[in-house]
Amino acid sequence: MLLLIHPPVMKPCEPPAGIAKINGVLNHFGVGVKLLDANIEGVLHLLKTPVEPKDTWTKHASRTLSTNLASVKSFPVYQNLDRYKRAVNALNHLLGVVTQETDARLSLTNYQDQKLSPVKSDELIKAAEQPEKNPFSPYFKARLVEIVEHDQPSVVGFSLNYLSQALCTFAMIGLLRQKFPELKLILGGGLVTSWVKRPGWKGPFNGLIDHLIPGPGEYPLLSLLGITGNNKSFCLPDYTSLPLRKYLSPGLILPYSASSGCYWNKCSFCPERAEGNPYVPVPVDKVLSDLHTLVKQTKPVLIHFLDNALSPALLNALSSHPLPVPWYGFTRITPHLTDLDFCRTLKQSGCVMLKLGLESGDQKVLDALNKGINLKEASQALKTLKKAGIATYVYLIFGTIAENLSSAKSTRDFVVKHSDYIDFLNLAIFNLPAYGPEVEKVATKKFYEGDLSLYTDFSHPQGWNRIQVREFLDKEFTRHPAIASIIRKEPPFFTSNHAPFFVIKSQRPMASTFPLPYKG
Ligand code: SF4
Repeated sequence: MLLLIHPPVMKPCEPPAGIAKINGVLNHFGVGVKLLDANIEGVLHLLKTPVEPKDTWTKHASRTLSTNLASVKSFPVYQNLDRYKRAVNALNHLLGVVTQETDARLSLTNYQDQKLSPVKSDELIKAAEQPEKNPFSPYFKARLVEIVEHDQPSVVGFSLNYLSQALCTFAMIGLLRQKFPELKLILGGGLVTSWVKRPGWKGPFNGLIDHLIPGPGEYPLLSLLGITGNNKSFCLPDYTSLPLRKYLSPGLILPYSASSGCYWNKCSFCPERAEGNPYVPVPVDKVLSDLHTLVKQTKPVLIHFLDNALSPALLNALSSHPLPVPWYGFTRITPHLTDLDFCRTLKQSGCVMLKLGLESGDQKVLDALNKGINLKEASQALKTLKKAGIATYVYLIFGTIAENLSSAKSTRDFVVKHSDYIDFLNLAIFNLPAYGPEVEKVATKKFYEGDLSLYTDFSHPQGWNRIQVREFLDKEFTRHPAIASIIRKEPPFFTSNHAPFFVIKSQRPMASTFPLPYKG
């Protein structure tokens, strides 16, 4: 029996797709699997830990805990952004209070430690050597011992995808090593893939972890379990044993990956491309049948496509085969989004929001980034999506190598001009992948100063460094009234994961029995 763990901390609003996908494949091959979402369980455990309220804010947050949890899990609060913000901020405040005596700085969506860095292998090993210092430790200890003693797994796998999970993952590994030294421990997930693909990777965790699995973990796991010669097929993810009604959303959000990698795979700044991750799409017929089966099984209120970019082929299939619940995901800005009829059919298929990586409002910057985006088309696409009733979450990156103050101002002007057509904005400052092709073009310096750092600091060739970019964003960009009013609409902490609930209410009723026919 295999125990698969999704470690904290990630947004606790939807079940983990990674371990559900592996569960589906392993079940298909008859392997018994137990899933543990230690993220949602751990966060709820900490929220419910009694605190000694020392100030009015904490007293109030503590007294209203159950009301706030119930609010975030029900639709009415999504009709009033201020009420939503109060509930979410109070939950987040409590997490900070519960952990204030420790070195951890915990929020609903992040985990940092004042003494340990997740990009230094020796400090991750330290987290494993002193698991009792992790604020989740009482929960980890009780729950892991209970499961191992009851289910007796021979192998425990951790799905480590983000830096915010790394220190907690190693704390759990240390705990299991202390209590159950005979267990085989396996580490996989997106972050592990990035580590292992770094040139000069030396395997600093040998002796602590039995196997590191880069890339998709399901088939390497089967081989490790001695099941060989299997045909690699796309299996239905299995979410059924996860606590589907516990997540902090007004109903289940069903995550689904219709592909891994990216069909475009050309953007110069992209870590996917730098790592050489191949594009592997699930056949569209299979995507549609998977989703209809999963909807019947799990009764979600929203489908979240996890793809880096939904392919035109899939968008076409979705537009002619409506899904039975609303959906959203990332897509590239391509000419078909300027076609009103196409966008209307997409809307009819259940599409409530599209996340669009526009990155810049300057054509020269877009060309240098190899985004394949034409600004005239982008302008038309935003207007057409608005007309069709599909909300947009627009992603921008500032401080890329090709950008300077003047092009950043062009981005600001583009956003202001299109502010009526943009529902949400995500602003990021460019991080240079430490091992991508871009690194050759600039003088680099150490960034996080860790042997596991994926990014490197650099001297911008036009003096447009992080400090200047931050100043422009703080003092100019975000202060423009048209932009400020978009930014104010962002749901704190949960951002794009909860944003669809704010637009759905103004569009059509929300229910797991979304009244759209499936014509497939
Ligand atoms: S579209 Fe996104 S995932 Fe694809 S190459 Fe560009 S940045 Fe990377």
